[in-house]
Amino acid sequence: MAYQILTSQCISCNLCLTVCPTNAIKVVDGQHWIDPELCTNCVGSIHTVPQCKAGCPTCNGCVKQPSDYWEGWFANYNRVVAKLTNKQDYWELWFQSYSQKYSEQLQKRQSQTMGAEA
Ligand code: SF4
Ligand code: SF4
Repeated sequence: MAYQILTSQCISCNLCLTVCPTNAIKVVDGQHWIDPELCTNCVGSIHTVPQCKAGCPTCNGCVKQPSDYWEGWFANYNRVVAKLTNKQDYWELWFQSYSQKYSEQLQKRQSQTMGAEA
């Protein structure tokens, strides 16, 4: 759910270009454009609000794209996973814990079923 620039409103002042912490804003064929792969909505930066939206003199040049639940979910997931320093250990632990819980539940269910049949 990156921000995007409404080109019809943009007056090419370049302010957003200078304030974006991830260099997500580019000028393509003379039009300002936000690379959705680079835009983080300013989350994780020192800023508390999206800088392009906050500074745009048109007050409506940079707007949030319509939200898509799964797009947002995967974007957050990828951001969090990218920050993990020891990914292999993390997934090993996750898998062990998940397998253990799953096998406990399975055994519990099997013993309940056998008890009901007896
Ligand atoms: S700050 Fe607003 S008007 Fe200025 S270049 Fe960016 S989108 Fe266009
Ligand atoms: S929301 Fe933040 S990261 Fe995204 S384009 Fe605007 S200034 Fe850059």
